[in-house]
Amino acid sequence: MQVPLLDLKRQYVTIESDIKQAIEEVLSSQHFIMGPKVKELEQAVAGYCGTRHAVACASGSDALLLALWALGVGAGDEVITSAFTFFATGGSISRLGAKPVFVDIREDTYNIDPDLIESCITDRTKAIMPVHLFGQCAEMDWINDIAARRGLAVIEDAAQAIGAEYNGRRAGALGTMGAFSFFPTKNLGGYGDGGMVTTDDDELYDMLSILRLHGARPKYYHKHIGMNSRLDALQAAVLLVKLPHLDTWNDARRANAARYNSLFDAAVVGTPVEAAGRRHIYNQYTIRVDKRDDLGDHLREKGIGSEIYYPVPLHLQECYADLGYEKGSLAVTEKAALEVLSLPVFAELAAEEIEYVADTVKGFAV
Ligand SMILES: *Cc1c(COP(=O)(O)O)cnc(C)c1O
Repeated sequence: MQVPLLDLKRQYVTIESDIKQAIEEVLSSQHFIMGPKVKELEQAVAGYCGTRHAVACASGSDALLLALWALGVGAGDEVITSAFTFFATGGSISRLGAKPVFVDIREDTYNIDPDLIESCITDRTKAIMPVHLFGQCAEMDWINDIAARRGLAVIEDAAQAIGAEYNGRRAGALGTMGAFSFFPTKNLGGYGDGGMVTTDDDELYDMLSILRLHGARPKYYHKHIGMNSRLDALQAAVLLVKLPHLDTWNDARRANAARYNSLFDAAVVGTPVEAAGRRHIYNQYTIRVDKRDDLGDHLREKGIGSEIYYPVPLHLQECYADLGYEKGSLAVTEKAALEVLSLPVFAELAAEEIEYVADTVKGFAV
């Protein structure tokens, strides 16, 4: 049996005719960038997340960048975030000339440990950027409480968490702004790059809308220096077909995760922890084992896809050597980076495939 980490084709065949029709509409309109489809998607995503506004852009990385930029984050500023994440989280901070300040994670959820945030706040700190890693929201009440007391903004890196909930509210509506990615492997993936920033704040909404169009308003009159970060109408059309299915697909991922959990002996395989009040949407189903690399090799030999998210935490990346972190600086993060392995969890997996993956993991002496 072959079980890939992700098989996008299985989803595609279930929505193929709707997708083709939506693409055909865009082709007939010959309106390719921004426009009514993008506006419709912005309103749909804002409605879905429960925010007043949403601003589409070219990628999740740009969504993070635009969110920080709209806040006025720049040279000399500091932003507190996690090092156990995709590079864009830290990279967006650095690209504005600001400094990422990496805080260790919690052992159970892999998300930033709020207990360690306050001691890292300085008079240069502008924002806290928690990552909802693997599809589970960070400890947002606690983080928002710190931010409110210290006068900081909170940007959710919700790239992996569209549809995830925290005490009944959705990711993207839990901080000052939320940043989403529509990269094809995310739970709501387009057929190319795309991103979105959500917010309730009218002024930030205005600034985000201007910055993504080279800072112009009206066209050709530039009050600010922005960037080109627009969304294609084709991507918006695809995403509008997919959004109504998102909850069903997320539920299927949750059911697959529950099935794995019931098949694994928690004493042997570290299974993901869903914290109280959370709705984890399992962009990744990530286990922890001692001989992680050997297990990955074993799974490959047995035809099973797996991946390490993430092998090198940001504070130990070569490009961040000048920040002065060393091995051991963030002990929980570094240990996780050595032990995690993500298994196939996509919505269309068959029960036999999950059993085969679980049996193969269990058959390996871990
Ligand atoms: C995917 C991802 C991003 C970046 O999104 P892109 O659309 O690939 O630019 C940022 N942060 C996290 C945590 C991600 O998983």
